[in-house]
Amino acid sequence: MSYTGPGFDPPQPRRSRRGPLTVALAALVPGALLGWAVYAAVGGSGDDEGPGSTAASASPSASASASSRTSSPAPSASSEDEKPGAPAAASGPLRGRVVVIDPGHNPENFKHTAEINRQVDIGTNRKECDTTGTSTDDGYAEADFTLDVAHRMRALLEKQGATVKLTQDGDRPFGPCVDERARIGNEAKADAVVSLHADGSGTGNRGFHVILPGAVDAGAADTRAIVGPSEDLGTRIAGNFVRVTGSAPSNYVGGGTGLVTRKDLGGLNLSTVPKVFIECGNMRDSKDAALLTSGAWRQKAAQGISDGIVSFLRGWGSAR
Ligand SMILES: [Zn+2]
Repeated sequence: MSYTGPGFDPPQPRRSRRGPLTVALAALVPGALLGWAVYAAVGGSGDDEGPGSTAASASPSASASASSRTSSPAPSASSEDEKPGAPAAASGPLRGRVVVIDPGHNPENFKHTAEINRQVDIGTNRKECDTTGTSTDDGYAEADFTLDVAHRMRALLEKQGATVKLTQDGDRPFGPCVDERARIGNEAKADAVVSLHADGSGTGNRGFHVILPGAVDAGAADTRAIVGPSEDLGTRIAGNFVRVTGSAPSNYVGGGTGLVTRKDLGGLNLSTVPKVFIECGNMRDSKDAALLTSGAWRQKAAQGISDGIVSFLRGWGSAR
């Protein structure tokens, strides 16, 4: 069930003699565009990455809701997944480019509450080291989702010649903390970093959103140089995510754009390289959960995000 195509295969209208094909295709395009508009924001915030869904409403005092995680994860992260020091593919358009993938949370975080509740400095304020993340109502953990998509993305990007590094690969007892997650991207001198998540919002709240760093200059945080390129990266990811998955932008944050800017996330505040988060869907909505738990859909998600990164690196990165 692996999705290997280069992009989105639109439904092929039956090719008949003349006009109908053109008409059908023409009808598809406004339909897709309409998707962006139809999903008008209805307010509310359920982002598991912390309080305040937007930079404007960020409130550092509230605590992230770590939702229940009762099932024990299957042992994962076979060592073959990890390729320490493996040389990047010698060819491909992304040869020499470094992509860091940050699989949000950690399947073992729930066993280490004291450690992950430790406060770390994120420049603007202090915040928990990490959180457990959310899960579907059936117990599929966000941390398992993020690792799975990360592995799929790594395969896709390595095929393009990129050097890919994960901030964690199910190979640590907990974390890393959000400040270390940022540091890993910085020290790798990554050309692009994407932090993978799925949201834990209310039923009926659907769709994906990409979180962009707002301009922050406080303490160890200075995002001013990465705001522009990160917006470019995030916009390309959002567009490709729509194209490949067919998912609509969030109907509860971002005003239907699929883009949200925030200044309260340590993983963004402390980054010195272009970086965005993506909330691929809402695990607490049954329709979104049906997508998030599907391997075929996760392959599309990985393809969409990877395509966005490739687009960014080929369009922007030539100057770097
Ligand atoms: Zn998350």
